[in-house]
Amino acid sequence: MTAIQASAMDRALTQAHKSELHIVGHGFSTVTDDRVIAVSSARDAVRAHVVTIQRNRLHCDYEASQYGRYCSHRALVHEVLSQEAEAARPAHETAPLLPVRGNAAISMWK
Ligand SMILES: [Zn+2]
Repeated sequence: MTAIQASAMDRALTQAHKSELHIVGHGFSTVTDDRVIAVSSARDAVRAHVVTIQRNRLHCDYEASQYGRYCSHRALVHEVLSQEAEAARPAHETAPLLPVRGNAAISMWK
């Protein structure tokens, strides 16, 4: 992800939180078997937008994303997927590093 893309995603995520968007459903497409997540609509309380996860790409049915803009629905799903990935990391990768005694010239253990 480039710095420009990260900036666009940050703005979209800020907008998602400001609009109080949230996940309203999830599952898998019966046609393609891709994972799909439904995100509430900021404009219509009874409507949701479907974000489809195809490999490492997120596709939203909302018209803004059809023109290459990074919509807030995709940003919210990206955040959820990042949290899932973090939770799935093995404990040894997330545990704090313990000091290790070594042969370094300067060490708190010598
Ligand atoms: Zn969208």
